[in-house]
Amino acid sequence: MADFDVVVIGGGPGGYVAAIRAAQLGLRAACVEGWTTPSGSLALGGTCLNVGCIPSKALLESSEHFEQAQHGLADHGVQLSGVKLDLATLLKRKDGIVSTLTGGIQGLFKKNKVEWLRGFGRLERGAGNGAAPIWQVVVDGPDAKQTVSATHVVLATGSRPRPMDAAPVDGKTIVDNVGALAFDSVPKTLGVIGAGVIGLELGSVWRRLGSQVTLLEALPGFLALADPAVAAEAHKQFTAQGLDIRLGATVTATQVTKSGVQVTYKDTDGEHSATFDKLVVAVGRVPYTEGSGAREAGVAFNERGFIVTDAQGRTNLPNVWAVGDCTPGPMLAHKASEEGVMVAECIAGQHGHCDHAVIPWVIYTHPEIAWVGQTETQLKAAGIDYRAGSFPFAANGRARSMNATGGFVKMLACARTDRLLGVHIVGPQASELISEAVVAMAFGAASEDLARIVHAHPSLSEAMHEAALAVDRRTLHI
Ligand code: FAD
Ligand code: NAD
Repeated sequence: MADFDVVVIGGGPGGYVAAIRAAQLGLRAACVEGWTTPSGSLALGGTCLNVGCIPSKALLESSEHFEQAQHGLADHGVQLSGVKLDLATLLKRKDGIVSTLTGGIQGLFKKNKVEWLRGFGRLERGAGNGAAPIWQVVVDGPDAKQTVSATHVVLATGSRPRPMDAAPVDGKTIVDNVGALAFDSVPKTLGVIGAGVIGLELGSVWRRLGSQVTLLEALPGFLALADPAVAAEAHKQFTAQGLDIRLGATVTATQVTKSGVQVTYKDTDGEHSATFDKLVVAVGRVPYTEGSGAREAGVAFNERGFIVTDAQGRTNLPNVWAVGDCTPGPMLAHKASEEGVMVAECIAGQHGHCDHAVIPWVIYTHPEIAWVGQTETQLKAAGIDYRAGSFPFAANGRARSMNATGGFVKMLACARTDRLLGVHIVGPQASELISEAVVAMAFGAASEDLARIVHAHPSLSEAMHEAALAVDRRTLHI
């Protein structure tokens, strides 16, 4: 008999959730994780908890308070003077949140009887017959090297920043997300290559804290993934806040100098040069599977380096599964976790399921941006006939009371059946509002269904209600 029913390689939101769910279902589960923190200890939680979702949201929250204290509260009649930034405390708070949450996963492992195998894991073929081999995972950790056997192995090894030849990360002047979450002083000037999710979130953080931020984006259009109207509104608001967004800018070279970094880039006007104190490279992420043994064991990969799975996370090898950022699809923590649950349930003989069509996206800038389902661009390209309804936060009483009147909710519904096909929000609390749309779409709701549901007054959710009414051209408040 194998040592474990399931060994999960990787302890990020995909892997640790898979291990917990497997244990809940009565399987003997272990999770291999070797993430080393700056203090040298090992931590669970992966990119998300250590250098991703959680620390970035902690900084976004703190920096927004700083911005409000300086520029937002006077309108409310709250006069503050002498507002100062204590960056060390701000960073310490962020680090405290990270260590509390990563420690919390250790607690969850204990509670659920998941064994944490500390170190990096490598998949190897073990004994057993061809149809149902017993897999081996060699764990190389600070305590010792050990080999465990497993009936099932889940690959949840995540992703890493996409490297860029023209801007090699040195961790000091040119950084990736790790460095950009931990500058020990506010750079006077900050360049960011890539105006995507990380560029906008971390660019916003440092702008609010006092940096002059320039984003260099290779594509000619802004936020290509988002609905065009949302992207246009966000671009308008970010630019008004002082983010200098240069589109169609291809960085060709960087030169670290004594005082910072010189960046050469090209756009339609020719070649330009810009100097910054610090430079963040945020041009996407790539799957991270090196050292996991997956390739050597014969796991199939696609041409972009992602592990190929079926809709339930099975790879081409028997009893080897994969979830999260190392598999195709959006690189989002909640997608990874739901896949983790799905795979654990399938291993336990249940009908695991993850609805990939209704995965919400959120960008935690100010205003926040959130969407689920298809954009107008995608619907047009697919030739789907739709009706659109929008409602501006400027006409919502709660948004007015919050001084958060920019942005709107937009709903797209099938012209024939009225079924919701996409919901797009740019504005206050978009991250929370989008859940209503996710639930509605997961249950196959029509815009009419949302239009007939009672929404609390005064609340931002009334903008969702009105956008649903707008699909049928019957808004009440505009
Ligand atoms: P990861 O979290 O990358 O975890 C993989 C783990 O596997 C790592 O801990 C790694 O050490 C471990 N590992 C790798 N190889 C081995 C091995 N051989 N043996 C043992 N362990 C191994 N997503 C959101 O949904 N919302 C957000 O707000 C958000 N913000 C983000 C902000 C930033 C700055 C970044 C960089 C990302 C953000 N993301 C966000 C994306 C999110 O972090 C990822 O989608 C998510 O972490 C993926 O989870 P995962 O478990 O697949 O991989
Ligand atoms: P991204 O794909 O969101 O954005 C990268 C941007 O860089 C794109 O706009 C792309 O056109 C641009 N780019 C690519 N090559 C370039 C080049 N050579 N020069 C200039 N621009 C270039 O990727 P990201 O911001 O690095 O984030 C990685 C992933 O992490 C995201 O896609 C997302 O899945 C995840 N993430 C999610 C959240 C969230 O959910 N709130 C936050 C941060 C990160």
